[in-house]
Amino acid sequence: MSVNSPRGTADIYGEYIKYRDFIISTARELFDIFNFEEIITPAFEYTEVFSRSIGESTDIVHKEMYTFPDRKGRSLTLRPEGTAPVVRSVVEKKMLVPENIPLKLFYIGNMFRYERPQKGRMREFWQLGVEALGSSSTILDAEIIWLLNEIFKRLGFKNLILKINTIGCSKCRNNYIKIFREYIEPRLDYLCADCQRRFKVNPLRIFDCKIKSCKKIVSEGPKIKDYLCKNCSKHFKELISIISDLSINYTISDDLVRGFDYYTGIIFEMASNDLNSAQNALGGGGRYDNLLADFNGPDMPAVGFAVGMDRTALLMRQLGIKYTDIRNKPKSYIISLSEDAGPYIIDVLKQLRNSNIACDIDYSTSGIGSALKKAGKKGFSTALIIGEEEVKNDIITVKDLKSFKQYKVKKNNLVKEVLRITGADQNE
Ligand SMILES: [Zn+2]
Ligand SMILES: [Zn+2]
Repeated sequence: MSVNSPRGTADIYGEYIKYRDFIISTARELFDIFNFEEIITPAFEYTEVFSRSIGESTDIVHKEMYTFPDRKGRSLTLRPEGTAPVVRSVVEKKMLVPENIPLKLFYIGNMFRYERPQKGRMREFWQLGVEALGSSSTILDAEIIWLLNEIFKRLGFKNLILKINTIGCSKCRNNYIKIFREYIEPRLDYLCADCQRRFKVNPLRIFDCKIKSCKKIVSEGPKIKDYLCKNCSKHFKELISIISDLSINYTISDDLVRGFDYYTGIIFEMASNDLNSAQNALGGGGRYDNLLADFNGPDMPAVGFAVGMDRTALLMRQLGIKYTDIRNKPKSYIISLSEDAGPYIIDVLKQLRNSNIACDIDYSTSGIGSALKKAGKKGFSTALIIGEEEVKNDIITVKDLKSFKQYKVKKNNLVKEVLRITGADQNE
Protein backbone atom coordinates (compact mmCIF):
# COMPACT_ATOMS: atom_id res chain seq x y z
CA MET A 1 0.00 0.00 0.00
CA SER A 2 1.39 3.39 -0.91
CA VAL A 3 -0.48 6.39 0.43
CA ASN A 4 0.45 10.08 0.38
CA SER A 5 -0.60 12.71 2.92
CA PRO A 6 -3.73 14.68 1.91
CA ARG A 7 -3.18 17.86 -0.13
CA GLY A 8 -2.52 20.86 2.09
CA THR A 9 -1.24 18.90 5.08
CA ALA A 10 2.33 18.66 6.31
CA ASP A 11 4.43 16.16 8.20
CA ILE A 12 6.47 18.28 10.57
CA TYR A 13 9.88 16.83 11.45
CA GLY A 14 13.61 17.49 11.38
CA GLU A 15 14.59 21.16 11.23
CA TYR A 16 10.97 22.41 11.26
CA ILE A 17 10.40 20.77 14.64
CA LYS A 18 13.34 22.80 15.98
CA TYR A 19 11.87 26.03 14.57
CA ARG A 20 8.50 25.08 16.00
CA ASP A 21 9.93 24.29 19.45
CA PHE A 22 11.73 27.63 19.43
CA ILE A 23 8.59 29.53 18.41
CA ILE A 24 6.46 27.80 21.06
CA SER A 25 9.01 28.16 23.86
CA THR A 26 9.58 31.85 23.05
CA ALA A 27 5.82 32.50 23.03
CA ARG A 28 5.16 30.46 26.18
CA GLU A 29 7.82 32.37 28.08
CA LEU A 30 6.20 35.67 27.05
CA PHE A 31 2.67 34.43 27.79
CA ASP A 32 3.91 33.76 31.30
CA ILE A 33 5.57 37.18 31.60
CA PHE A 34 2.36 38.88 30.38
CA ASN A 35 0.28 36.64 32.69
CA PHE A 36 -1.76 34.58 30.23
CA GLU A 37 -2.98 31.07 31.06
CA GLU A 38 -3.37 28.21 28.62
CA ILE A 39 -6.68 26.88 27.33
CA ILE A 40 -7.12 23.83 25.10
CA THR A 41 -10.42 23.49 23.22
CA PRO A 42 -11.56 20.66 20.91
CA ALA A 43 -10.37 20.50 17.29
CA PHE A 44 -14.04 20.45 16.17
CA GLU A 45 -17.13 22.31 17.31
CA TYR A 46 -20.78 22.48 16.33
CA THR A 47 -20.86 24.39 13.05
CA GLU A 48 -22.87 27.35 14.39
CA VAL A 49 -19.93 28.29 16.66
CA PHE A 50 -18.15 29.48 13.50
CA SER A 51 -20.95 30.37 11.08
CA ARG A 52 -22.56 32.74 13.58
CA SER A 53 -19.37 34.43 14.78
CA ILE A 54 -16.98 34.61 11.82
CA GLY A 55 -19.95 35.51 9.62
CA GLU A 56 -21.82 33.95 6.71
CA SER A 57 -20.41 36.62 4.37
CA THR A 58 -16.76 35.67 4.94
CA ASP A 59 -14.79 33.42 2.60
CA ILE A 60 -13.95 31.20 5.56
CA VAL A 61 -17.57 30.30 6.33
CA HIS A 62 -18.74 30.53 2.74
CA LYS A 63 -16.26 28.14 1.16
CA GLU A 64 -13.34 27.14 3.38
CA MET A 65 -14.75 25.16 6.30
CA TYR A 66 -14.42 21.41 6.78
CA THR A 67 -18.04 20.75 7.74
CA PHE A 68 -19.55 17.28 8.07
CA PRO A 69 -22.47 15.57 9.80
CA ASP A 70 -21.60 13.21 12.65
CA ARG A 71 -23.31 9.82 12.91
CA LYS A 72 -26.32 11.38 14.63
CA GLY A 73 -26.63 14.03 11.91
CA ARG A 74 -25.37 17.05 13.92
CA SER A 75 -23.28 19.40 11.79
CA LEU A 76 -19.68 19.60 13.02
CA THR A 77 -16.82 21.76 11.73
CA LEU A 78 -13.05 21.42 12.15
CA ARG A 79 -12.03 24.74 13.72
CA PRO A 80 -10.89 27.26 11.09
CA GLU A 81 -9.64 29.69 13.79
CA GLY A 82 -9.14 29.86 17.54
CA THR A 83 -11.16 32.79 18.89
CA ALA A 84 -14.74 31.52 18.51
CA PRO A 85 -14.01 28.22 20.34
CA VAL A 86 -12.36 30.08 23.23
CA VAL A 87 -15.35 32.43 23.53
CA ARG A 88 -17.76 29.47 23.34
CA SER A 89 -15.81 27.80 26.16
CA VAL A 90 -15.53 30.92 28.33
CA VAL A 91 -19.32 31.43 28.13
CA GLU A 92 -20.22 27.75 28.59
CA LYS A 93 -17.89 27.26 31.59
CA LYS A 94 -18.88 30.66 33.10
CA MET A 95 -15.24 31.73 33.47
CA LEU A 96 -15.98 35.46 33.48
CA VAL A 97 -16.52 35.87 37.22
CA PRO A 98 -15.34 39.22 38.71
CA GLU A 99 -12.11 37.84 40.21
CA ASN A 100 -11.08 36.48 36.78
CA ILE A 101 -11.46 39.76 34.88
CA PRO A 102 -9.66 40.47 32.67
CA LEU A 103 -9.53 36.81 31.72
CA LYS A 104 -6.26 36.31 29.83
CA LEU A 105 -5.97 33.05 27.88
CA PHE A 106 -3.61 31.67 25.26
CA TYR A 107 -3.94 28.65 22.97
CA ILE A 108 -1.71 26.63 20.65
CA GLY A 109 -3.48 24.37 18.19
CA ASN A 110 -4.11 23.07 14.69
CA MET A 111 -6.73 24.78 12.50
CA PHE A 112 -8.34 23.72 9.23
CA ARG A 113 -9.35 25.67 6.13
CA TYR A 114 -10.11 24.37 2.68
CA GLU A 115 -7.95 26.83 0.70
CA ARG A 116 -5.73 26.49 -2.32
CA PRO A 117 -2.45 25.38 -0.72
CA GLN A 118 0.45 27.80 -1.14
CA LYS A 119 3.83 28.17 0.50
CA GLY A 120 3.08 28.80 4.16
CA ARG A 121 -0.68 28.38 3.68
CA MET A 122 -1.86 24.88 4.45
CA ARG A 123 -5.27 23.26 4.86
CA GLU A 124 -4.19 22.04 8.28
CA PHE A 125 -2.10 24.75 9.91
CA TRP A 126 -0.92 25.64 13.41
CA GLN A 127 -1.71 28.83 15.25
CA LEU A 128 -0.95 30.30 18.62
CA GLY A 129 -2.98 33.15 19.96
CA VAL A 130 -4.23 35.07 22.96
CA GLU A 131 -7.62 36.36 24.06
CA ALA A 132 -8.10 38.96 26.82
CA LEU A 133 -11.74 39.14 27.87
CA GLY A 134 -13.76 41.49 30.06
CA SER A 135 -12.03 44.86 29.69
CA SER A 136 -12.16 47.69 27.17
CA SER A 137 -9.02 49.37 28.51
CA THR A 138 -6.83 50.99 25.88
CA ILE A 139 -3.85 49.87 27.95
CA LEU A 140 -4.99 46.26 27.48
CA ASP A 141 -5.10 46.84 23.69
CA ALA A 142 -1.57 48.19 23.89
CA GLU A 143 -0.41 45.22 25.98
CA ILE A 144 -1.78 42.77 23.41
CA ILE A 145 0.02 44.59 20.60
CA TRP A 146 3.18 44.82 22.71
CA LEU A 147 3.08 41.03 23.30
CA LEU A 148 2.62 40.35 19.57
CA ASN A 149 5.54 42.64 18.73
CA GLU A 150 7.72 41.13 21.47
CA ILE A 151 7.18 37.55 20.24
CA PHE A 152 8.56 38.42 16.80
CA LYS A 153 11.32 40.57 18.24
CA ARG A 154 12.55 37.70 20.42
CA LEU A 155 12.28 35.25 17.54
CA GLY A 156 14.81 37.44 15.75
CA PHE A 157 12.66 39.33 13.21
CA LYS A 158 13.92 42.80 12.25
CA ASN A 159 12.21 45.86 10.75
CA LEU A 160 8.88 44.99 12.35
CA ILE A 161 6.00 47.24 11.48
CA LEU A 162 2.56 47.30 13.06
CA LYS A 163 -0.32 48.06 10.69
CA ILE A 164 -3.20 49.44 12.68
CA ASN A 165 -6.69 50.68 11.96
CA THR A 166 -10.07 50.94 13.63
CA ILE A 167 -13.39 49.93 12.14
CA GLY A 168 -15.26 51.92 14.77
CA CYS A 169 -18.07 51.03 17.15
CA SER A 170 -21.42 49.76 15.85
CA LYS A 171 -22.72 53.36 15.77
CA CYS A 172 -20.03 54.89 13.56
CA ARG A 173 -19.42 51.70 11.58
CA ASN A 174 -23.09 51.45 10.50
CA ASN A 175 -23.00 55.07 9.40
CA TYR A 176 -19.82 54.39 7.43
CA ILE A 177 -21.20 51.20 5.85
CA LYS A 178 -24.17 53.25 4.59
CA ILE A 179 -21.81 55.75 2.95
CA PHE A 180 -19.55 52.99 1.59
CA ARG A 181 -22.61 51.20 0.16
CA GLU A 182 -23.66 54.39 -1.62
CA TYR A 183 -20.15 54.69 -3.06
CA ILE A 184 -20.03 51.05 -4.25
CA GLU A 185 -23.55 50.75 -5.68
CA PRO A 186 -22.92 52.62 -8.99
CA ARG A 187 -19.61 50.69 -9.36
CA LEU A 188 -21.07 47.26 -8.62
CA ASP A 189 -20.75 46.04 -12.23
CA TYR A 190 -16.98 46.51 -12.03
CA LEU A 191 -16.60 44.28 -8.97
CA CYS A 192 -15.95 40.52 -9.10
CA ALA A 193 -18.77 38.02 -8.50
CA ASP A 194 -17.57 37.36 -4.93
CA CYS A 195 -17.64 41.07 -4.13
CA GLN A 196 -21.14 41.42 -5.59
CA ARG A 197 -22.27 38.74 -3.15
CA ARG A 198 -20.31 40.41 -0.33
CA PHE A 199 -22.00 43.72 -1.15
CA LYS A 200 -25.38 42.18 -0.32
CA VAL A 201 -24.36 40.46 2.94
CA ASN A 202 -21.64 42.70 4.39
CA PRO A 203 -20.03 45.38 2.19
CA LEU A 204 -17.02 45.61 4.53
CA ARG A 205 -15.94 42.17 3.28
CA ILE A 206 -15.19 43.76 -0.11
CA PHE A 207 -12.00 44.98 1.59
CA ASP A 208 -10.89 41.31 1.82
CA CYS A 209 -10.81 40.90 -1.98
CA LYS A 210 -7.38 40.22 -3.45
CA ILE A 211 -8.39 41.11 -7.04
CA LYS A 212 -6.63 44.24 -8.30
CA SER A 213 -9.65 45.96 -9.89
CA CYS A 214 -11.71 45.49 -6.69
CA LYS A 215 -8.80 46.73 -4.58
CA LYS A 216 -8.54 49.87 -6.71
CA ILE A 217 -12.23 50.71 -6.29
CA VAL A 218 -11.92 50.20 -2.52
CA SER A 219 -8.77 52.31 -2.24
CA GLU A 220 -10.45 55.27 -3.98
CA GLY A 221 -13.53 55.05 -1.76
CA PRO A 222 -14.45 56.73 1.53
CA LYS A 223 -12.30 55.87 4.60
CA ILE A 224 -13.75 54.94 7.96
CA LYS A 225 -11.29 57.20 9.80
CA ASP A 226 -13.24 60.18 8.45
CA TYR A 227 -16.49 58.90 9.96
CA LEU A 228 -15.38 57.85 13.47
CA CYS A 229 -17.45 59.05 16.41
CA LYS A 230 -15.80 61.12 19.13
CA ASN A 231 -15.28 58.13 21.43
CA CYS A 232 -13.71 55.86 18.80
CA SER A 233 -11.48 58.64 17.58
CA LYS A 234 -10.27 59.37 21.13
CA HIS A 235 -9.56 55.67 21.88
CA PHE A 236 -7.60 55.28 18.68
CA LYS A 237 -5.47 58.37 19.38
CA GLU A 238 -4.80 57.18 22.94
CA LEU A 239 -3.73 53.75 21.74
CA ILE A 240 -1.39 55.20 19.11
CA SER A 241 0.22 57.34 21.79
CA ILE A 242 0.86 54.34 24.11
CA ILE A 243 2.25 52.33 21.19
CA SER A 244 4.68 55.16 20.46
CA ASP A 245 5.72 55.19 24.12
CA LEU A 246 6.47 51.45 23.80
CA SER A 247 8.74 52.24 20.81
CA ILE A 248 6.68 50.00 18.53
CA ASN A 249 7.02 50.94 14.87
CA TYR A 250 3.57 51.50 13.39
CA THR A 251 1.68 52.73 10.37
CA ILE A 252 -2.02 53.58 10.20
CA SER A 253 -3.52 51.36 7.49
CA ASP A 254 -6.81 52.76 6.12
CA ASP A 255 -7.80 49.66 4.17
CA LEU A 256 -7.08 47.08 6.90
CA VAL A 257 -10.35 45.38 7.95
CA ARG A 258 -9.38 41.69 8.49
CA GLY A 259 -11.65 38.92 7.27
CA PHE A 260 -13.90 38.20 10.26
CA ASP A 261 -17.30 39.72 10.95
CA TYR A 262 -16.79 39.63 14.72
CA TYR A 263 -14.20 42.42 14.83
CA THR A 264 -15.19 45.77 16.34
CA GLY A 265 -12.96 48.82 16.82
CA ILE A 266 -9.18 48.37 16.86
CA ILE A 267 -7.66 45.90 14.39
CA PHE A 268 -3.97 45.30 13.67
CA GLU A 269 -1.41 43.20 11.85
CA MET A 270 2.28 42.71 12.53
CA ALA A 271 4.49 42.66 9.46
CA SER A 272 8.17 42.85 8.61
CA ASN A 273 9.54 45.21 5.99
CA ASP A 274 12.09 42.50 5.15
CA LEU A 275 9.29 40.56 3.43
CA ASN A 276 7.50 41.21 0.13
CA SER A 277 4.56 43.52 0.62
CA ALA A 278 1.79 41.09 -0.39
CA GLN A 279 2.86 38.30 1.96
CA ASN A 280 4.42 40.20 4.83
CA ALA A 281 1.79 39.74 7.57
CA LEU A 282 3.11 37.69 10.49
CA GLY A 283 0.06 37.75 12.72
CA GLY A 284 -2.84 39.96 13.64
CA GLY A 285 -5.94 40.53 15.67
CA GLY A 286 -8.25 43.10 17.10
CA ARG A 287 -11.21 43.88 19.33
CA TYR A 288 -14.34 41.79 19.26
CA ASP A 289 -16.55 43.56 21.78
CA ASN A 290 -19.85 41.86 20.79
CA LEU A 291 -18.77 38.24 20.50
CA LEU A 292 -19.34 37.22 24.14
CA ALA A 293 -22.89 38.61 23.98
CA ASP A 294 -23.46 36.90 20.61
CA PHE A 295 -22.77 33.59 22.38
CA ASN A 296 -25.35 34.55 25.04
CA GLY A 297 -22.53 35.33 27.46
CA PRO A 298 -22.04 38.52 29.48
CA ASP A 299 -22.06 41.71 27.41
CA MET A 300 -18.31 42.29 27.82
CA PRO A 301 -15.58 43.50 25.48
CA ALA A 302 -12.55 41.46 24.39
CA VAL A 303 -9.37 41.66 22.33
CA GLY A 304 -6.88 39.13 20.96
CA PHE A 305 -4.50 38.06 18.22
CA ALA A 306 -3.38 34.94 16.35
CA VAL A 307 -0.05 33.97 14.78
CA GLY A 308 0.47 31.33 12.10
CA MET A 309 3.28 29.08 13.29
CA ASP A 310 3.98 27.30 9.99
CA ARG A 311 4.31 30.61 8.17
CA THR A 312 6.51 32.05 10.93
CA ALA A 313 8.89 29.07 10.69
CA LEU A 314 8.96 29.32 6.90
CA LEU A 315 9.69 33.06 6.99
CA MET A 316 12.43 32.60 9.60
CA ARG A 317 14.13 30.13 7.31
CA GLN A 318 13.63 32.40 4.31
CA LEU A 319 15.15 35.37 6.16
CA GLY A 320 18.03 33.28 7.53
CA ILE A 321 16.93 33.70 11.15
CA LYS A 322 18.40 30.87 13.23
CA TYR A 323 16.45 29.12 15.96
CA THR A 324 17.95 28.58 19.36
CA ASP A 325 18.02 24.87 20.04
CA ILE A 326 16.08 24.73 23.29
CA ARG A 327 17.45 21.27 23.97
CA ASN A 328 21.01 22.45 23.56
CA LYS A 329 22.43 20.53 26.53
CA PRO A 330 25.36 18.11 26.57
CA LYS A 331 24.49 14.92 24.74
CA SER A 332 26.74 11.88 24.78
CA TYR A 333 27.10 9.21 22.11
CA ILE A 334 28.30 5.83 23.31
CA ILE A 335 30.46 3.87 20.89
CA SER A 336 31.18 0.30 21.86
CA LEU A 337 34.22 -1.47 20.46
CA SER A 338 33.69 -4.61 22.48
CA GLU A 339 31.11 -7.34 21.98
CA ASP A 340 30.93 -8.13 25.70
CA ALA A 341 30.52 -4.59 27.05
CA GLY A 342 26.70 -4.83 27.44
CA PRO A 343 26.43 -4.62 31.25
CA TYR A 344 29.19 -1.96 31.33
CA ILE A 345 27.29 0.18 28.80
CA ILE A 346 24.01 -0.19 30.70
CA ASP A 347 25.79 1.05 33.82
CA VAL A 348 27.10 4.10 31.89
CA LEU A 349 23.64 4.87 30.44
CA LYS A 350 22.09 4.59 33.92
CA GLN A 351 24.62 7.02 35.43
CA LEU A 352 24.08 9.60 32.69
CA ARG A 353 20.30 9.35 32.39
CA ASN A 354 19.78 9.37 36.16
CA SER A 355 21.72 12.66 36.17
CA ASN A 356 19.55 14.05 33.34
CA ILE A 357 22.32 13.88 30.75
CA ALA A 358 20.98 12.93 27.31
CA CYS A 359 22.75 9.99 25.66
CA ASP A 360 22.35 7.34 23.04
CA ILE A 361 24.21 4.27 21.80
CA ASP A 362 25.65 3.51 18.41
CA TYR A 363 24.22 0.12 17.44
CA SER A 364 25.98 -0.08 14.12
CA THR A 365 29.23 -1.97 13.72
CA SER A 366 30.60 0.27 11.01
CA GLY A 367 33.77 1.22 12.89
CA ILE A 368 34.80 4.09 15.13
CA GLY A 369 35.45 6.58 12.30
CA SER A 370 31.95 6.53 10.88
CA ALA A 371 30.40 6.38 14.36
CA LEU A 372 32.25 9.57 15.36
CA LYS A 373 31.15 11.27 12.14
CA LYS A 374 27.53 10.32 12.83
CA ALA A 375 27.78 11.67 16.40
CA GLY A 376 29.11 15.01 15.17
CA LYS A 377 26.42 15.32 12.51
CA LYS A 378 23.61 14.49 14.96
CA GLY A 379 24.76 17.22 17.35
CA PHE A 380 26.23 15.12 20.16
CA SER A 381 28.76 17.01 22.28
CA THR A 382 30.85 14.03 23.41
CA ALA A 383 31.56 10.49 22.27
CA LEU A 384 32.11 7.90 25.00
CA ILE A 385 34.30 5.14 23.63
CA ILE A 386 34.17 1.79 25.37
CA GLY A 387 36.54 -1.03 24.32
CA GLU A 388 38.09 -4.00 26.05
CA GLU A 389 40.78 -1.87 27.71
CA GLU A 390 38.17 0.53 29.16
CA VAL A 391 36.08 -2.30 30.60
CA LYS A 392 39.17 -3.94 32.12
CA ASN A 393 40.37 -0.72 33.82
CA ASP A 394 36.93 0.62 34.75
CA ILE A 395 37.46 3.78 32.66
CA ILE A 396 35.84 5.51 29.68
CA THR A 397 37.50 7.38 26.83
CA VAL A 398 35.64 10.68 26.41
CA LYS A 399 36.10 12.56 23.14
CA ASP A 400 35.02 16.20 23.08
CA LEU A 401 33.44 16.52 19.63
CA LYS A 402 34.11 20.27 19.49
CA SER A 403 37.82 20.38 20.31
CA PHE A 404 38.48 16.71 19.43
CA LYS A 405 40.50 16.45 22.64
CA GLN A 406 40.38 13.05 24.28
CA TYR A 407 40.30 12.18 27.99
CA LYS A 408 40.41 8.94 29.94
CA VAL A 409 38.11 9.24 32.95
CA LYS A 410 37.13 6.89 35.78
CA LYS A 411 33.67 5.40 35.27
CA ASN A 412 32.54 6.55 38.72
CA ASN A 413 33.45 10.16 37.85
CA LEU A 414 31.79 10.08 34.43
CA VAL A 415 28.91 12.51 35.09
CA LYS A 416 31.16 15.12 36.65
CA GLU A 417 33.76 14.76 33.87
CA VAL A 418 31.22 15.00 31.04
CA LEU A 419 29.80 18.19 32.55
CA ARG A 420 33.31 19.62 32.98
CA ILE A 421 34.50 18.70 29.48
CA THR A 422 31.40 20.17 27.79
CA GLY A 423 31.47 23.27 29.99
CA ALA A 424 27.93 22.51 31.15
CA ASP A 425 29.02 22.85 34.82
CA GLN A 426 29.77 26.57 34.08
CA ASN A 427 26.26 27.22 32.77
CA GLU A 428 24.36 25.96 35.80
ZN1 LIG B 1 -17.64 54.89 17.23
ZN1 LIG C 1 -13.60 41.34 -5.63
